[in-house]
Amino acid sequence: QETAKFIVVANRLPVDRIVNDDSTVDWRSSPGGLVTALEPVMQARGGAWIGWHGAADEQVEPFHHDGYDVIPVALSELEVERYYEGFSNATLWPLYHNCIAEPVFHREWWDAYRRVNRRFAQAAADRAEHGATVWVQDYQLQLVPQLLREMRPDLRIGFFLHIPFPPIELFNRLPWRNGIINGLLGADLVGFQTPGHGSNFLRLARRQPGIEGARGRVHLSDGRMVTAKAFPISIDAAGMAELANSPKVQAEARKLRADLGDPSTILFGVDRLDYSKGLRNRVRAVGELFDSGELNPEEVVYLQLATPSRERVEEYRILRDDIDLLVGRINSKSASLARSAVNYRYTSVPRETLTGMYQIADVMLVTPLLDGMNLVAKEYLACRSRSDSALVLSEFAGAALELKQAYMVNPYDIDGMKATILRAVHDSPRVKARKMRAMRRQVFEHDIDLWADSFLNQLEGE
Ligand code: UDP
Repeated sequence: QETAKFIVVANRLPVDRIVNDDSTVDWRSSPGGLVTALEPVMQARGGAWIGWHGAADEQVEPFHHDGYDVIPVALSELEVERYYEGFSNATLWPLYHNCIAEPVFHREWWDAYRRVNRRFAQAAADRAEHGATVWVQDYQLQLVPQLLREMRPDLRIGFFLHIPFPPIELFNRLPWRNGIINGLLGADLVGFQTPGHGSNFLRLARRQPGIEGARGRVHLSDGRMVTAKAFPISIDAAGMAELANSPKVQAEARKLRADLGDPSTILFGVDRLDYSKGLRNRVRAVGELFDSGELNPEEVVYLQLATPSRERVEEYRILRDDIDLLVGRINSKSASLARSAVNYRYTSVPRETLTGMYQIADVMLVTPLLDGMNLVAKEYLACRSRSDSALVLSEFAGAALELKQAYMVNPYDIDGMKATILRAVHDSPRVKARKMRAMRRQVFEHDIDLWADSFLNQLEGE
């Protein structure tokens, strides 16, 4: 078995399985930002990516893909239910998003979470060269750092949390809170999206017996030191801008605008259908503006894409029905004969289409109740080159710390959101241009390569 100097451990592999017509199987790189960021690093260093391949009860052999090794981890149907849908998405996800939805606690889920985390840690331990760097990703794998350290004390271990880390009062509800904190403390460097999430973690870590805290780090009783720091994640801004400017996407954009009836103003939102994204309040706010005539459905269209997500979790099914109902209500009142006021679609779209949608969006609506970062906000800025544009952004998105010139909203304040959306529609082109210029510079200067480099330099410089 080959070993690697650099290993990424993530819940999912960076490749999707494609079954061809002759039923042979290919693997294609999945388009996510993390893959874009880490592929060059893995190719340069000789790397391996450990993750689940996405199908239950199926063993897939390791293979080589695009210059690095892919190491599939198998999960049983029951483990998918308990470790992934259960503990990860119905316990940790709501808990870490400040209990917007009630977290569900089940002891069998925790047992499965521990068992699966051990399997991922073992896979990394088996593959890592002596002194290798292992970078563990996200909330599904918080026990891996400690488990891996016990198996392989020679490794450098980094961990990055892509979602928020909650305040002490909420985190402490978790019956297995010490297990999680100690799991993370197995890393040398723990990265967060914002400094606030980092301090939440450090405050908890300092309460563990035998642990002393100094600024930004803690000292463990065994002499090790763990650093916690913010590394705001970003996007491949240049790559997205290039795609946005390609003739294919330009044509797509023109067609989209025409299909929407060539309105004078397009409001756009695109989110996974998740309760953390603040869709109910956003749809309500825009609906009331159509109702009152402050937005005229003859001139303005609100295009909202919701991509299907976690459909087997109860909360998500309820949300889907709620949005269907809200949108239906608005359209039954405010549609013109020619078209609906709200063009709502529950589907995901190809990259080119999404990029085209960013391009035609005069006002981009990003209003999560809480979000670790929110990449959609940054993607809009990279793709929409016209200066006569506006980004309406929730102050509770991690991105708000970097995109200070956005039209900032409190997504719980529907009247406040209505006023800010109107301002974003009606402000002078000069004001909008100034805001866009500043935010676009921020996104292009702080791209995904910078994120990966900063994290790895810090981890390997420690
Ligand atoms: N996205 C996509 N297909 C779609 C809609 C969205 O690939 O049909 C992508 C979008 O480009 C962005 C990501 O999904 O990169 C969403 O990331 P974000 O941080 O905004 O939210 P998350 O879904 O990770 O909570």
